[in-house]
Amino acid sequence: VDKKLRQSIEGRMRAAGMRVTPQRFAVLEYLAGTHEHPTAEQIGVAVNSRFPTASRASVYNVLHALRDAGMVHEIYLDDAVARYDANLAPHHHFICRACGLLDDVEWQIAPNPPSAIGGGRVVDSYEVILRGLCADCGRAASSAGPG
Ligand SMILES: [Zn+2]
Ligand SMILES: [Zn+2]
Repeated sequence: VDKKLRQSIEGRMRAAGMRVTPQRFAVLEYLAGTHEHPTAEQIGVAVNSRFPTASRASVYNVLHALRDAGMVHEIYLDDAVARYDANLAPHHHFICRACGLLDDVEWQIAPNPPSAIGGGRVVDSYEVILRGLCADCGRAASSAGPG
């Protein structure tokens, strides 16, 4: 781990009032370095390659602690499996309907939430999920041709 990244991750945890543990560090470091919005399962596999002692339950505990401290976002899509995102800057998401890729989309494409949705409901968070085909799947679909 490069020293700067280590310090920034540890600093973020301390600022959030969290005790820094090797497992928390490993999970957050992994999330900070990927744009793939992995599931807890995938995070467990990745972290386990470095921390063979990390049980599935402890990976969940770490993820929930990071979520509750506001250090990662938990995202639920159609399959209702939580995905995790350490990108805390406002952004939207694109999901590929063919391969399930979940990618970040810059905030500027839809920066303004609707101001009033009626019915006495109050909006306190806003995010757009766009669906379609990623570049790879779009290429595959067009080269397959009709029929
Ligand atoms: Zn795709
Ligand atoms: Zn994201």
